[in-house]
Amino acid sequence: MKMTQFVIVGLGRFGSSIGRELVLLGNEVLGVDRDEEKVQELSSVLTHTVVADATEEEVLRSVGARNFDCGIVAIGDDIQASILAAILLKELGVKKVVAKAVSELHGRVLERLGVDRVIYPERDMGVRLAHQLVSPNLLDYIEISKKYTIAEMEVPSCLTGKSLANVNPRGRYGCSVVAINKPKGMIIAPNADDVLTEKDVMVVIGTNEQIEQFQNSIR
Ligand code: ADP
Repeated sequence: MKMTQFVIVGLGRFGSSIGRELVLLGNEVLGVDRDEEKVQELSSVLTHTVVADATEEEVLRSVGARNFDCGIVAIGDDIQASILAAILLKELGVKKVVAKAVSELHGRVLERLGVDRVIYPERDMGVRLAHQLVSPNLLDYIEISKKYTIAEMEVPSCLTGKSLANVNPRGRYGCSVVAINKPKGMIIAPNADDVLTEKDVMVVIGTNEQIEQFQNSIR
């Protein structure tokens, strides 16, 4: 994977977690926070760290923010600081700016400013967890559009030993199993006679309703 250069503004719980992971994934990360303690905690983990106020244009200029591939504004509670840092990163010409929003309105403002991706970590995590709690087989899902979802579902004991032709999710519910992750490896585009075993993970694509119906049928 190509090494990318990230600048993270705000090293709270969210910013520090992204920073640590990006470094583990082999990327270069500059972390900026006005709180010296936060910076010290991460100084041996991130590639570079700076104690500075990211709402000051000169500060962002002097750390060379414009040369980074991606800027992440991970300031939550101080909405004013988040907005100012986002505008400055955009104006300095950072190619991609991602910002965390703590409310819908905060998110709308960030979008208006031209932030390339606005994320709502707490809201989205809450929605995700609710789905997983009501559907115990659901391991994870991605909404590929408002209508379509790709879901990862654990094969429950009621499907163990059955072939895809037996289970027939496409015929019954309209959704398709596009892959089966087995302990021995992944079967991509499985055949009708591929057999499910307990703890296999099915990757299923379909409309939200189709996937929900399939899930409800195997609870
Ligand atoms: P989290 O919920 O992820 O912990 P917080 O909003 O509590 O998010 O933390 C945001 C971090 O951003 C804090 O460490 C804070 O010191 C930092 N921060 C806030 N405003 C600025 C600013 N103007 N410049 C640099 N860092 C900032």
